[in-house]
Amino acid sequence: MDADRCELILHSFAEAYLYLLLNRCAGCVEGTLVMDWTRVTQDPERGMVSAVFACRACGQAGLFRLDARLVDAESIRPGDFAAWEKPGSQPVVPPVNPTDEASRVIDVAGWLTLFGVLSEKAREIARQATKVRERAVVRQLQIQAGQCLDEALAFYLEDNDLPPREAFFSEDSWRQFMERPALFVRDRLIDLRSGLPLQAGGSGRRKLRGEE
Ligand SMILES: [Zn+2]
Repeated sequence: MDADRCELILHSFAEAYLYLLLNRCAGCVEGTLVMDWTRVTQDPERGMVSAVFACRACGQAGLFRLDARLVDAESIRPGDFAAWEKPGSQPVVPPVNPTDEASRVIDVAGWLTLFGVLSEKAREIARQATKVRERAVVRQLQIQAGQCLDEALAFYLEDNDLPPREAFFSEDSWRQFMERPALFVRDRLIDLRSGLPLQAGGSGRRKLRGEE
C-alpha cells in the first residue's frame, strides 16, 4: 500500500498499531514506522481524527484517518494504541474493529501474519511466565491474536472456504496465498480461533459473513 500518497482509513488506533507493526516504509522500503503523537489532530465538527506516522530511517510521513461515519466518535481513542502495544497495561483489550466492515489497510494475509506474530509472542512469554502479571499479559496477547483471526475471517464471503481476490491488497499477499492456499482455509482459521480466549465482558467475536 502506498502510504506516502494516500491516507489510510482506520477503524481504531489499535488498527494503527498493527499497521505499523506489520509494514515497512513505502519510500525506503526497509525503515520501521512509528507514530508521531505530536501530530494527532481532532476535528470534532466533522467527527474526524487524523494521525501522522513516519519512517524511523528516512522520515517519510504517512497519514491515518479515523472517521466517525465509520465508527462512533466515542470509540476513537488514541489510548487504544498503548493498550495493544503494551498488553497487560490496561484491564481490557480494546476492539481493533468495532464495525462489520473488513479492514481497509491490512489484508487477509496481513491479519494471518499478525496472528502468527502475536501468538508466538504469547507462547514465548508463557514459557517463562511465573507471575500473575505475566499470565495476564499472555492472556491479552491471545485475545489480540484472536481478534486478528476475526479480522481475517471478515474477508470471507458466504460459504466460500477461501478468501476472494479482493481480500489481497498486494501482489505479494496474493503470492503468499497462491503458494500456500491451505493456510487460508476458513475452517482452519475457525479452529485456531476456537482455541483462543474472547474478551471477558466484550461483545465477543464478530459474526462471520453468511452466519445467522
Ligand atoms: Zn523510509
